[in-house]
Amino acid sequence: MNVHEDAPLLEIRDLRVTFNGPAGPAEAICGIDLALDAGKVLGIVGESGSGKSVTMMAVMQLLPPSAEITGSVKFKGHELIGLPPQEMRKLRGARIGMIFQDPLSAFNPVLTIGEQICEALRLHDRTLSRGGARDRAVELLEMVSIPQPDRRARQFPHEFSGGMRQRAMIAMAIANSPDLLIADEPTTALDVTVQAQILDVLQRLREDLGIGLMFITHDLGVVAGAADEVAVMYSGRIVERGAVDDVFYSSHHPYTRGLLAALPKLGGSDGPLTPIEGTPPSLRNRPPGCAFRPRCHIAIPLCGAAQPALATIANVSTACHLFSHFEAMP
Ligand code: ADP
Ligand code: MG
Repeated sequence: MNVHEDAPLLEIRDLRVTFNGPAGPAEAICGIDLALDAGKVLGIVGESGSGKSVTMMAVMQLLPPSAEITGSVKFKGHELIGLPPQEMRKLRGARIGMIFQDPLSAFNPVLTIGEQICEALRLHDRTLSRGGARDRAVELLEMVSIPQPDRRARQFPHEFSGGMRQRAMIAMAIANSPDLLIADEPTTALDVTVQAQILDVLQRLREDLGIGLMFITHDLGVVAGAADEVAVMYSGRIVERGAVDDVFYSSHHPYTRGLLAALPKLGGSDGPLTPIEGTPPSLRNRPPGCAFRPRCHIAIPLCGAAQPALATIANVSTACHLFSHFEAMP
């Protein structure tokens, strides 16, 4: 594979994914642009159904045949869309690693954790000896802060707690020193303390190994401490994007503001949290114009007529008519 070392690690341009089914086509991803550099963390945030996992699966080329994908996904300058499956298999698990919310389903219940990491290692490096793979597996478990890694390597997945299992899955994902790690809701099933520990492990990998991390979550709070940049998705589009501090302190989109308002406040509770009322539209039933309009308290007539485009002001890109409307006023 020809890679261009000076190209961004991951560059997504006008990605669209349409699922074709008996009820007709449904557009899950409606043209998104994203970029991620080596050693950086890009957080992708949005409610369930906004298209986060489909974006990840499109990058990994793991969508079912019913999915029609257009646009461009470049890994180190190399186009992945349309790449032959055998080439893509070489990239997955070697240069691009993945971690999911539910590690139990990713492990084989009848093999020890150590055996499975060895298998992942030897799949991509056939010259590695059994003993060499074993040593490396223990080293990897140590890298993700699993105590007594030597003993743990000989245990089965069911003998691990949820948090330990997620660490083991990270160890497996980084086994072949990938350049890019895609984590889809890796901490969602874990309690807050364990969640913080996993985020810590991921931070260290980024710092020590220079891995670029695409971090998917429905929880804007998790992104705050973990990401450099954040993209907020709503109904298959990016509605706001920027450096994490800029988005947290000067977000303009009513959806992002709603997500921020629903976050627990530091230092205890000030009454009930205010989640955004209503639910996202179904893919086949998107309203005309801005998909967030039916839930938006400040919508103007234009919002029902035209799809707002991302416009960048003060380092934050926002797709909202109101915002661009007022900013454009003298
Ligand atoms: P999330 O942001 O929760 O990860 P997803 O990316 O999984 O959301 O889903 C985005 C939309 O695409 C949802 O409406 C979902 O129902 C739809 N979708 C996902 N996978 C498929 C599929 N294989 N076939 C049809 N629709 C799908
Ligand atoms: Mg998902």
